Amino acid sequence: MTKLIKEEGERGRLHIDTPLMGESLVSKELLIRTEAKKYFHMHPDINVLKIGGQSIMDRGAKALFPILDALVQAKEKHKILIMTGGGTRARHVYNIGVDLGMPTGVLSKLGDKISWQNAEMLAVLLAKYGGVKIGHGDNLEQLTMFCRLGYIPITYGIPPYGFFEHPAEHGSIPPHRTDCGAFLLAENIGARRLIFLKDEKGLYDKDPKKSGRAEQKNLRFFDRISATQLLELDLDDMIIERPILLMLQRAKCLKEFQIVDALNHPEYILRALEGEHVGTTIYKDEIEPHTAG
Ligand code: ADP
Ligand code: MG
Repeated sequence: MTKLIKEEGERGRLHIDTPLMGESLVSKELLIRTEAKKYFHMHPDINVLKIGGQSIMDRGAKALFPILDALVQAKEKHKILIMTGGGTRARHVYNIGVDLGMPTGVLSKLGDKISWQNAEMLAVLLAKYGGVKIGHGDNLEQLTMFCRLGYIPITYGIPPYGFFEHPAEHGSIPPHRTDCGAFLLAENIGARRLIFLKDEKGLYDKDPKKSGRAEQKNLRFFDRISATQLLELDLDDMIIERPILLMLQRAKCLKEFQIVDALNHPEYILRALEGEHVGTTIYKDEIEPHTAG
């Protein structure tokens, strides 16, 4: 705790004796002591829903309209923040950048505009239902207010790394894209739930789209799995971005997230918001996984 020390005398100065003074903020022992007993949740009723770029939006009207109907219905009972993915257009610009030998941060800057476009598109589509596009600035403190007023806030999922993106483990595709952005925002606003709306039932041990018919029958489906177990499996490909698993292990507020097949089952959106287990739940190890009900 910070101590305020007042100098002797009526007009004595006030000194601030802060425990972090003189520290490098690197010491593990010190950092462990800064762990809060309970973390503050700014928007505890807000549910963050990320709409996939490639998995949903790129498919156009046929995929999107039933999902938008489900979201408009869900908004009557739940406070929701929609975040958008990038998709094929982002992949195309990454491909050109890779061909040109661009480093990760340049690719990150090139690709970030696409989830903005998708947020714009959703804001237009949802405008008559209260859809409002917001940025990553001061409006994020106002999310609960937006929802109370009947709005559906929509923002882009891409986190603001740009030239500050971390080097990738392999190659140069930015490792922190829109799944990571949705995770980071949900964690830091203390959201109620984080749900990824995608086009598969959830996580398998292999990409079902890259498996033949016969192989698909033998795929292992993960109903619930912890971040640590999943990291240990070291799957070659996954339905969510890999850095999320490390983030979940270290998360202070979020305990789990769900991946649901909103493409084939738009009704799963409401069911997931109601706490039902549909799809795959990935959870932080220290807790029991979320139970249905
Ligand atoms: P989004 O557009 O929502 O970001 P992506 O296309 O980036 O979605 O990722 C979702 C896709 O990941 C699925 O459509 C699926 O084909 C693929 N995928 C890769 N590995 C797996 C896996 N192990 N289990 C399930 N899906 C996988
Ligand atoms: Mg993706």
